[in-house]
Amino acid sequence: MYGLGIIKGMAITMKHFVATYLDDIHWLSRGGRYYNDEALQVRQSLNGKGVITVFYPEEKLPVPERFRFVPFLVTDEPESGQNWGHDWCTSCGICAKVCPPQCIWIERGKQPNGRPKPEPEKFFIDIDICMNCGLCAEFCPFDAIKMDHDYELASYDRTTAHIHDKERLSKPLSYWREIAPKKAEAEAAARDFSKLAKERRKNRKRGGEEGQEERLEEAKSRQLIYRGGLY
Ligand code: SF4
Ligand code: SF4
Repeated sequence: MYGLGIIKGMAITMKHFVATYLDDIHWLSRGGRYYNDEALQVRQSLNGKGVITVFYPEEKLPVPERFRFVPFLVTDEPESGQNWGHDWCTSCGICAKVCPPQCIWIERGKQPNGRPKPEPEKFFIDIDICMNCGLCAEFCPFDAIKMDHDYELASYDRTTAHIHDKERLSKPLSYWREIAPKKAEAEAAARDFSKLAKERRKNRKRGGEEGQEERLEEAKSRQLIYRGGLY
């Protein structure tokens, strides 16, 4: 009926308007609306009611797992006294090639005999040029570069503060597991799957190994959790 849509829209707006005040009263009686972790968690989730303003930077909305900001380099867990562990990056250069604005610069390491070393000596990303597309992370064959969730990188420095070097870029695998647990788990399963599949091919000639098929199936189903979008 003509005009019914407008009335319905206004009723929904009014419902949210009232819910906002009722929700304020609810959380005020439980320790205050602002700076209260429990209130923030509920209000910023799908269970939140009303319309709320986020008082950034005191309040921050949690970012979804797929959120991506500038890239970082994955390393093994650091040993005590070290900031990061062994690089996953093999310095293959694929990320630098696919990067649309060409903001990645890599210098490959050299062995004492002069042959190339499969790890970067230097690795730079100019984050002022990076457009956060994530292609570097998509194309890396070694899961060595990932998109970070840290978006508070603004500074007044107009020289080199935004050219992130290897030290600034390197973060241990546990960090990636913390910010993207489902994707990290699916990637680990994919790596297990490909390792097990290789072993199976080798072992076939020897008649296979006990429990091999079950382990392969298990790794396969773990990868599907992510691919099926269940997160
Ligand atoms: S694609 Fe991956 S392994 Fe290759 S240089 Fe880039 S980060 Fe390193
Ligand atoms: S996110 Fe995109 S623009 Fe940024 S470094 Fe990676 S490929 Fe380049």
